[in-house]
Amino acid sequence: MRLDKFLAENTGLTRSQANKVLKQSAVTLNGKIEKNGAQKVSPVDEICLDGEPLPWVSAGQYLMLYKPSGYVCSHDEGDYPTIYQFFDYPLAGKLHSAGRLDVDTTGLVLLTDDGQWSHRITSPKHHYEKTYLVTLADPVESHYQQACEEGILLRGEKTPTKPAKLTIIDDYHVNLTISEGRYHQVKRMFAALGNKVVDLHRWKIGDIELDTQLAEGEYRTLSAEEIATFNK
Ligand code: URA
Repeated sequence: MRLDKFLAENTGLTRSQANKVLKQSAVTLNGKIEKNGAQKVSPVDEICLDGEPLPWVSAGQYLMLYKPSGYVCSHDEGDYPTIYQFFDYPLAGKLHSAGRLDVDTTGLVLLTDDGQWSHRITSPKHHYEKTYLVTLADPVESHYQQACEEGILLRGEKTPTKPAKLTIIDDYHVNLTISEGRYHQVKRMFAALGNKVVDLHRWKIGDIELDTQLAEGEYRTLSAEEIATFNK
């Protein structure tokens, strides 16, 4: 979040008072005077006001969920229940997911109440990688690897996908790492290759892997280090 927002939320100051104390050189960020209210900060940063460290009282919510199949990443209930039913009131209403998975896709979903953090994760500018374990209907073919690296033209699109990394596990299973988030991208990439995805599981976003201790439908808070991996 922005430093001026952090100051306003963690002291009695208003946003404009926070910017005033910043201009007066009263705030240090990791030991150095910081005057810019727009400077991004996260729970790994030490922020002091008049030499006193400020604790992250309202550090925000940063969570990972193991999404089961059959749930939508949306607040609107349609034909399927939503992932937000795994969270108690009032937490559920505050959260949004950093990117979505299809109803039948399982695995890692990051959730937060920090719009700037989730924007960084999903923004094409930062191209954080996402890795999927893909189960295919037909055996994987040797040319898939090169096709993924070169980019695949998806049906109805004008530009090919960005280079993606395919690792073959066995005849029917591959890991695919992509750095974009086009609509149904993984399923459409394999459709363009003449195959079909029968099971899709996301297990990594950026440097964060789905915690193997979590069962489907369970979540845990992210560590300060995990949160900060998206500040790079
Ligand atoms: N690609 C897909 O096709 N579906 C997902 O849920 C995620 C990526």
